[in-house]
Amino acid sequence: MQLTEAIDRLPRQRLANLPTPLHELPRLSAELGGPRLLIKRDDLTGLATGGNKTRKLEFLLADAIEQGADTLITAGGPQSNHCRQTAAAAAKAGLDCRLVLGGDPAPRREGNLLLDDLLGAHIHWTPKPERNATMDRVADELRGEGRQPYVIPIGGSNAVGSVGYILAMIELHEQLAAAGETVDTIVFPTSSGGTQAGLAMGAKLTGFTGRVLAISVDVEPGDRAFLEEVSSVANGAADLLGRSERVAPDELAINCDYLGGGYGVVGDHEREAIRLLASTEGVLTGPVYSGRGVGALVDLIHKGQFSQGQTVLYWHTGDESALHAYVDHLTDP
Ligand SMILES: *Cc1c(COP(=O)(O)O)cnc(C)c1O
Repeated sequence: MQLTEAIDRLPRQRLANLPTPLHELPRLSAELGGPRLLIKRDDLTGLATGGNKTRKLEFLLADAIEQGADTLITAGGPQSNHCRQTAAAAAKAGLDCRLVLGGDPAPRREGNLLLDDLLGAHIHWTPKPERNATMDRVADELRGEGRQPYVIPIGGSNAVGSVGYILAMIELHEQLAAAGETVDTIVFPTSSGGTQAGLAMGAKLTGFTGRVLAISVDVEPGDRAFLEEVSSVANGAADLLGRSERVAPDELAINCDYLGGGYGVVGDHEREAIRLLASTEGVLTGPVYSGRGVGALVDLIHKGQFSQGQTVLYWHTGDESALHAYVDHLTDP
């Protein structure tokens, strides 16, 4: 396949255990009386527990190394899975890592924050709206000391990172072909949009005929700028592969009905979904992203959005490492 050859020509550092498993969720499907359910286990990519950022980091880290970087800088929330995986990638490559976390310094190092610490990352706290400016400031300071920082955008969501999710779509295409399966809808949580960009472009490049439905974690309804950004990242990723296919903003499917109390606020929706998937299938999901994504899937099934004969795939983006930071929100008082 020409496409895989184009990807093989890009610099890449292997970080993930691939392909990630694809399997059925028969007990959850029976419990819901819904469509056939499959799950793609990107929680098992394996980098300091795993998650979707590992696929992006394979290309981002390689780019950093090509540019002679000695330090990775990125940003996120205090329980960022992206920051945790970036810290692990830096450690594995022998680079320093600076994490810019939005918010007040957390009173306790728990969940992903504990892991960032164990992985040797240096943490800079900053008000949430100042994360990008703080990353630039830290980069300037390091350059002033003669260091070579490489700034990875929030979520690793640029064209280079998104190639990881084009590759993921090729991987799924091959798994489905080998199993003789077809999927009607792929459901996954979206936030900074790089996963969505890669999946949408990957769907186009592999001839995937189903729907690629993003569940918004924190993107507000009608946020046109977000869809334009995802489109431009997707198209930039295609450019890197020498492909002329385009994903227009209007082709991107996003459901913004499950924002609840806002980013990182765990409500009944997330709590129930996490318990349901864990207790029917033994699969752990995290509070911020997957709880919201699986919760949306469950609710859409309850509302009859998918017929019994259909197959729906939940793409597990991996965040159970944050569970221990949410003990008080996940257990009964
Ligand atoms: C970052 C993240 C997402 C969202 O992916 P984006 O590419 O930022 O949209 C979804 N789930 C988990 C667990 C994440 O850490």
